[in-house]
Amino acid sequence: MTDPILTVQNLNKSFGALKATDNVTLDLRAGEIHALIGPNGAGKSTLIAQITGALPPDSGNVGFLGRDISGLSTAERARAGMARTFQISALAMDYTVLQNAVLGALGARGGVFQMLRPVMRNKALLETAHQALDTVGLSDHAHKRTADLSHGQRRQLEVAVALTLAPKVFLMDEPMAGLGSEGSAQLITLLDRLRHQAPILLIEHDMDAVFALADRISVLVYGQIIATGTVDEIRANPAVRQAYLGE
Ligand code: ADP
Ligand code: MG
Repeated sequence: MTDPILTVQNLNKSFGALKATDNVTLDLRAGEIHALIGPNGAGKSTLIAQITGALPPDSGNVGFLGRDISGLSTAERARAGMARTFQISALAMDYTVLQNAVLGALGARGGVFQMLRPVMRNKALLETAHQALDTVGLSDHAHKRTADLSHGQRRQLEVAVALTLAPKVFLMDEPMAGLGSEGSAQLITLLDRLRHQAPILLIEHDMDAVFALADRISVLVYGQIIATGTVDEIRANPAVRQAYLGE
């Protein structure tokens, strides 16, 4: 087996008396979709924040592409190829689809919008942005205002923005949230394709999507991973059925 792309070792984070992540260990291998499921408040978003460096862990390590990156900032991790999508959208709604993608390519998500005019003339950034829009199927909407996209198209744009970083790994926090069946189906097809470009750590409540996509599933409950396994193993696991699937 090849070495994992991402390794998370014994990560811990407490908020006062609450252990949001409790000794979490998992890894992500080339080509795979590893789903992380668990009830609301289990610590899933906290774990992503620790992996990206947005939230300093109390203890534990994150390894990426064979080196320990625990000391790197969020921006340094992003530049190294750690791409993420957000549970709450971080797109600039008044900007066009293309402008959001170009700002993503610039690594300027959420900032320096006063530089937009010169940036939109930068050939390399434009090419990267167009390529990412093409990959997610949004080329025809490049000049639309982002606010005028459907919810599903905005989710695709989120993925396109992440793609502009030439990611080595994708961290996705509930990308299917709020999507209807058509939007979910399109996103499932897209993620299934993207895994070959970079493996995906997929936080998702939509169990149909998880069962369709995941090579492995880890189950987080009260900050602890209670099981990791294939779809069949997780479906058959009595502790998981009791703690999460409500049986
Ligand atoms: P999930 O994404 O699995 O729903 P979260 O990681 O958002 O869970 O939250 C895990 C727990 O940590 C929850 O009980 C939440 O209220 C708490 N929590 C998250 N962020 C903070 C914070 N910044 N300060 C205090 N408590 C927090
Ligand atoms: Mg969350």
